[in-house]
Amino acid sequence: MERPRVTTKPSDETPVILWFRRDLRLADNPALNNAADTGRAIVPVYILDEAGDGRPLGAASKWWLDKSLRALDAALQQRGSRLILRRGDSESELRRLIDETGATTVFMNRRFEPDAWAQDAEIAHSLKDDGVECRGTNGTLLARPGSVLNGSSQPYRVFTPFHKALMAQAEVPTHTLGPRAISTPDHLSSDSIDDWGLHPKRPDWSAEFEGEPGEAGALAALSHFLKSGLGGYGAGRDIPSRAATSRLSAALHWGEISPWRAVAAARGAASDGRVPGAEAEKFVSEIGWREFSAHLLHHFPFITERAFRPEYDTMPWRDDPKSLKAWQTGQTGYPIVDAGMRQLWRTGYMHNRVRMVVASFLIKHLLIDWREGEAWFWDTLVDADLASNVQNWQWVAGSGADAAPYFRIFNPIAQGEKFDAEGRYVRRWVPEIARLPDKYIHAPWTAPREILAGAGLRLGQDYPRPIVDHAEGRARALAALKAIDNKS
Ligand code: FAD
Repeated sequence: MERPRVTTKPSDETPVILWFRRDLRLADNPALNNAADTGRAIVPVYILDEAGDGRPLGAASKWWLDKSLRALDAALQQRGSRLILRRGDSESELRRLIDETGATTVFMNRRFEPDAWAQDAEIAHSLKDDGVECRGTNGTLLARPGSVLNGSSQPYRVFTPFHKALMAQAEVPTHTLGPRAISTPDHLSSDSIDDWGLHPKRPDWSAEFEGEPGEAGALAALSHFLKSGLGGYGAGRDIPSRAATSRLSAALHWGEISPWRAVAAARGAASDGRVPGAEAEKFVSEIGWREFSAHLLHHFPFITERAFRPEYDTMPWRDDPKSLKAWQTGQTGYPIVDAGMRQLWRTGYMHNRVRMVVASFLIKHLLIDWREGEAWFWDTLVDADLASNVQNWQWVAGSGADAAPYFRIFNPIAQGEKFDAEGRYVRRWVPEIARLPDKYIHAPWTAPREILAGAGLRLGQDYPRPIVDHAEGRARALAALKAIDNKS
């Protein structure tokens, strides 16, 4: 692709470019702070680079991004600036902006996924040849990948020592609000976000999507969580019918809030005596899993495609489009699985406990390749995150770093009975079985005929019978997994 050359000569009056990517916020934003420190005008830009940004965005991510960019623009406007939107090849668009403004510095918070990392490095080298400096900072993780290594200078492969080392060295930067006023040249053109078509049309399937994208929404979610979730987080986080988790995942993915702000807020609540310290640390350790995932992907880029433990790539996966479709659409006959898949489809979110159950069901009961599930999640989750998604799918598959042992096969009936004992979660998402008594809510096919009739449920018509028998599915998976485990 032909790229416009940089022609404008720098002068003291030239603005600097602030390239927003996965840091869609003004507070705690190192790239913005550095740009502001120059004392020059700032050109805040977001470039939609569908071909060059690594894996193309899923549909639910686009929905979130649409609103997050609008929120960022509104926040910038409050400070006298605005967000310039450009679409196309990142380097070409940056060069156009450089040409239009004469900027000689681009400030950006780095992205650490392998493709994005490589793209950033390429752009930085290329612009340097034309006298433009790219100044990268870490605005998305507690610690830069590569900085948390074990005693042999190798990446950690096990979570607990990683987290310990991360906590020992991660510095929590001072909270900053960003400049109160941002001056931006007014002659620059911007795309209209409406023309980007990120929000679905015909049909608009997002009516029930949840969350408030943008920095203000992230802070509101954090504040709500500190008051009503964090105090009982350790146990509450496993109950899918309760709103006991932070719901910060999409905000953290898009950088609407920094991870260090979330950590500092949780620890602050503990040190003020508002919540027990152990609850705050449990939450911090989940943020630690996000870091672990990002660091693993950075060090082992192949894990998006292949098993971290290579012997798992010999799994005898089944090609079974009908079962895959039943799983995707929440028609497996296992209420907890179907509830999770329907929650995902309708809201763009699924509770973590249920993510583990549905992933295990696909991989183990159906023996369908984890990559199929990962791809589906990528398209449908508003918090789709390459590192976290891949790491968690491989964790459930048993093929990842620090993964669950191969013989751990979630029992979808027992999981439902344990974590949704009164069936509140499944009744909400699978209303056709709502009138079954609690005793049968997680295994409708075990209900006597008269109970089914009393609940107005015709199995096989109103709601499917199980697409695979639990004991048979489990035995088949165990046999396949045992064979693999013997090879390792
Ligand atoms: P909270 O319980 O409030 O946790 C706080 C934060 O910690 C989260 O916002 C998230 O950033 C991080 N976190 C929590 N659990 C994990 C975890 N297991 N791994 C990595 N980070 C974690 N999370 C994503 O952000 N994007 C994904 O694409 C994603 N895919 C997943 C796929 C599978 C199969 C599974 C089992 C989990 C996946 N997760 C993913 C992790 C987890 O389910 C979500 O982060 C969590 O449910 C988000 O809800 P929350 O913000 O209320 O979490």
